[in-house]
Amino acid sequence: MKLLEGKNVIITGASRGIGTGIAQVFAEHGANIAFTYSSSEAPALALEKELTAKGVKAKAYKSNAASFNESETLVANVLEEFGGIDVLINNAGITKDNLLMRMAEEDFDKVIEINLKSVFNMTKAVQRTMLKQRKGSIINMSSVVGVKGNAGQANYAASKAGMIGFTKSIALELGSRNIRCNAIAPGFIETEMTAKLDEKVVQGWREGIPLKRGGAPEDIANACLFFASDLSAYVTGQVLNVDGGMLT
Ligand code: NAP
Repeated sequence: MKLLEGKNVIITGASRGIGTGIAQVFAEHGANIAFTYSSSEAPALALEKELTAKGVKAKAYKSNAASFNESETLVANVLEEFGGIDVLINNAGITKDNLLMRMAEEDFDKVIEINLKSVFNMTKAVQRTMLKQRKGSIINMSSVVGVKGNAGQANYAASKAGMIGFTKSIALELGSRNIRCNAIAPGFIETEMTAKLDEKVVQGWREGIPLKRGGAPEDIANACLFFASDLSAYVTGQVLNVDGGMLT
């Protein structure tokens, strides 16, 4: 059964990793995909081609999620080219890890801008469309680190915890218009973001996860599918940990 037939979806940061996984699973379910990247043009164009070959409409947009103006322009372009927006997935994110003692001010600001301010930019940009149609689903990619904190990631954890507060507030503000807003808190997912980590540390994490493995982008995509589709029509303001039991 195709759960998103004909739905128009925006995914930020889908040129690789979790975003790519979401785009692939959503296209299998019949969704048209508008997705962004900031610098990885070649993989973004390859993904656009791959999705189009599945028989859906797909387009890659170069757009910095941290920029308010670029986000407004992006949404205007998507509306013109796709004719509507049913689902927004705020997925773009970066890390700039360091202990507080060594963390530069610009590394704090950059992570907050790209991970958290972007969610404000994009949600504000789509809200008018979703209000008018009295329907919409917004999904924010937080992290288990935003729920429990992590030494060496104060900037990242703060951005991801901020996303949870934002999610719950928007769920309260827009619920009466049938616009739902939920967050996903992935645990350890094997992508380029986590490939930079020390393999010994990673192996230690894997052993500590009740399901004894890191997650795949598809594991997160399937949770997004639930929040994007009518299967979750009565679910809003929630944070779903998709972490192999890590936080249990
Ligand atoms: P990734 O492999 O590093 O991919 C990040 C994506 O975001 C790329 O497509 C990148 O595009 C895009 N991006 C970065 N800065 C951007 C900007 N300013 N504007 C637009 N797009 C931008 O990361 P991932 O592992 O797939 O993670 C995706 C999301 O899940 C992130 O929010 C991350 O914090 C969250 N998450 C990941 C894990 C994990 O274990 N992997 C765990 C918890 C949460 P370019 O290549 O063009 O820059």
